[in-house]
Amino acid sequence: RALRVGLTGGIGSGKSTVACLLEERGAVVTSADEVARDVVSPGSDGLAAVVAEFGEGILAPDGSLDRGALGRLVFSDDLRRARLEELLLPLIAAEAWARMDTVPDGRVAVYDVPLLVEGQMQDLFDLVIVVEAELEVRLERLAARGMTRDEALARIAVQATDEERRAVADVVVSNSGALEDLSAEVDRLWSTRILEPGATA
Ligand code: ATP
Repeated sequence: RALRVGLTGGIGSGKSTVACLLEERGAVVTSADEVARDVVSPGSDGLAAVVAEFGEGILAPDGSLDRGALGRLVFSDDLRRARLEELLLPLIAAEAWARMDTVPDGRVAVYDVPLLVEGQMQDLFDLVIVVEAELEVRLERLAARGMTRDEALARIAVQATDEERRAVADVVVSNSGALEDLSAEVDRLWSTRILEPGATA
């Protein structure tokens, strides 16, 4: 089967950028964020389950999920948020693994998943890659995306710490510098045996 690689990192670390660079080199990338959107797409079982739990008020006029409305319902309500996760996380996991299972033998299947550590998924992969960047650099990147410093710090505070991510990492990719440096680091990683299907971490 394909080599299964879990790719994670704190927000603003550059995880999705690394996913992109790996894809350019031949990996097949599945994004947890994308799967999370797809499992509640119009007409899906996931959306039906969310409506059954939270009511039609979470639907936009066109029948798609109104994320803002759902967010307001679960925001600051731990029980509701837990219920939502209970509904969606198994659907997301099943869909993600179904997609990764279609990756042919000899290829590298990368799962870009922000909450790998929080979801304790490390043992599901042949290899775990953690992307790191210095806090100030992450804050700058997030600011460039329109997130205030306080918002960014609040989000970082509820994620796993760098230490917790490092503890499950087979490979740590540093991304505090320029994109060219990151690209060179991914090249190095790609050319090592560690990303050869059949090799073990
Ligand atoms: P999130 O968890 O928030 O999705 P992420 O870890 O996936 O974050 P990316 O989306 O890859 O992070 O990167 C965050 C932002 O920083 C993006 O706008 C990206 O283009 C930019 N970026 C990533 N790496 C670098 C770099 N080495 N130099 C400059 N900009 C970078």
